[in-house]
Amino acid sequence: MTRAVLRHALWTVGPDPDRALPVLYTACKDCAEQSPATTDRAASDLWALEHAGRTGHRRYRECVSVDLYARPAGETGGTTS
Ligand SMILES: [Zn+2]
Repeated sequence: MTRAVLRHALWTVGPDPDRALPVLYTACKDCAEQSPATTDRAASDLWALEHAGRTGHRRYRECVSVDLYARPAGETGGTTS
């Protein structure tokens, strides 16, 4: 027989306190091209400006990836794992 204690608990999710810098890239909305993934926003912006100058395309989407961490509500500080 397997026994377990179950209860409801409020958890939250937010930025991982041990996270690395956000990774981002810029994608052209007028064609399928996109910048290399980078942690340098200026490099991503420069790619869009160069792409606009070369193609005349003006619509872009910035895609950002940020690490998140889930924890019980009220818990603060760093991660233990
Ligand atoms: Zn384009």
